[in-house]
Amino acid sequence: MVSRVIPVDPFDLVIFGGTGDLARRKILPSLFRRFVAGQIPDEALIIGAARSDLDQAGYRSFVAEALTEFMPEPQRPAEEVTRFLAHLDYVQLDATGDQGWAKMKELVRDDRVQAFYFSVAPSLFGAIAERLHRFGIARPDARIVVEKPFGHDLESARALNAALASHFAEGQIYRIDHYLGKETVQNLMAVRFANILFEPLWSARYIDHVEITVAETVGVGGRGAYYDQSGAMRDMVQNHMMQLVCLIAMEAPYKFDPDAVRDEKLKVIHALQPVGMDDIVRGQYRAGADTLSYAEDVGNPASTTESYIAMKVEIANWRWKGTPFYLRTGKRLRARTSEIAIVFKEVPHSIFHDAIGWHENVLAIRLQPNEGMTLSVMIKEPGPGGMRLIEVPLDMSFAEALGAEGADIPDAYERLIMDVIRGNQTLFMRGDEVEAAWAWTDPIIQGWEEQGDRPRLYDAGSSGPEDSLMLMHRDKRRWREISE
Ligand code: NAD
Repeated sequence: MVSRVIPVDPFDLVIFGGTGDLARRKILPSLFRRFVAGQIPDEALIIGAARSDLDQAGYRSFVAEALTEFMPEPQRPAEEVTRFLAHLDYVQLDATGDQGWAKMKELVRDDRVQAFYFSVAPSLFGAIAERLHRFGIARPDARIVVEKPFGHDLESARALNAALASHFAEGQIYRIDHYLGKETVQNLMAVRFANILFEPLWSARYIDHVEITVAETVGVGGRGAYYDQSGAMRDMVQNHMMQLVCLIAMEAPYKFDPDAVRDEKLKVIHALQPVGMDDIVRGQYRAGADTLSYAEDVGNPASTTESYIAMKVEIANWRWKGTPFYLRTGKRLRARTSEIAIVFKEVPHSIFHDAIGWHENVLAIRLQPNEGMTLSVMIKEPGPGGMRLIEVPLDMSFAEALGAEGADIPDAYERLIMDVIRGNQTLFMRGDEVEAAWAWTDPIIQGWEEQGDRPRLYDAGSSGPEDSLMLMHRDKRRWREISE
């Protein structure tokens, strides 16, 4: 299979916060990989903008170091790095001051796609948007890219949307949720809407429940101060997991068009039922043999923030009434894995009463590691041992199915940045989606605050608090193993 790289139009991309962690770890390596793939046109210019006192040469060496740190050596041949660095420039500026913006105006050209990546704290979004406008830098069709966290609650999300809307139309704003850039997540749409096989079964009639797990082995690491203000609900559920729920649950859009897709996702968020306190388990990890506890990690012994959450979510519409979605995510768990499991109902009447090993059909969609899908089906165990059933996986590992091309799946950021340049908003969150997600999340968080809820402690390296097992057991179900 020949890999198809469709070059994008010439562009100028400004990265505000171009010396920050996200730029070094994700944005610049992603741009470099697209460059090596041949997707970045010769005329493209990438401009770092930050407070650090650097010039063009200084920024180029800074980026060279970032590539060395964050990319394996075989993926960064020296001559490619040198050619890539020639596309880079730098402007020193303070987002809240007026120095540097005139130089930015000189560098950013009018005759090409303009994209401005706000890789800075959300508190700076308004100041940057205002200056891009006031200094006449951004053309009316310029694109701006913003990162999570998009607000802390509904009120702050509305304020951010309003600050951006003062200078940019919704069609210019690209709110990144990098989960939407993952190959498997998009494949979820392809599997559902490009095959006749699944869609007729895709409802409460045939699906018993849906399980979404995002498990990490790491703790909060250096992000302690930020994370302690946020917790798993704000950091994972309100955005990434909510987006996954939407893609699984939405109706078929009338076409694959940004607003058609986002309209359908929004309807799912509106149909989410309020979640009662009995349907949520919050947890905080204990110290391990050689790891600190959550409270020690964030330096706040009295912290009531959750590093783990499990919840049962119901969608009140014709398709999903009666099929719960169980979500769980946490840090310091036994394995690093992200998986969606669509668990189908048993057949209405089993004719194999004496058969051993009856299981449900499960469509498991792995987001990481090893992106791919597995459909477990029951077959007869070969041999003369009677009618014994065994479960076998129909495995659609991209790496195996697609050969070299499948193994070379672009990182989510690569795809999303190229979509910004192409002007395709399908995989980006619209302002009303973000606000609707907060409107659902806020009362849950307020409930904890009002009741003084404290998270249950769980062992580092476990599957989370014991109580989370009950969430499933009382419905006569059980969580899938957290394993890589
Ligand atoms: P960072 O603190 O590492 O970098 C911040 C960048 O902003 C630096 O380049 C700094 O020079 C610049 N900056 C700060 N104040 C400025 C000002 N007044 N004027 C101009 N430049 C200024 O932060 P980060 O981790 O790179 O995160 C950037 C944004 O992306 C944040 O909103 C963060 O929440 C979000 N984000 C980060 C990650 C990540 O993995 N780092 C992941 C998701 C979202």
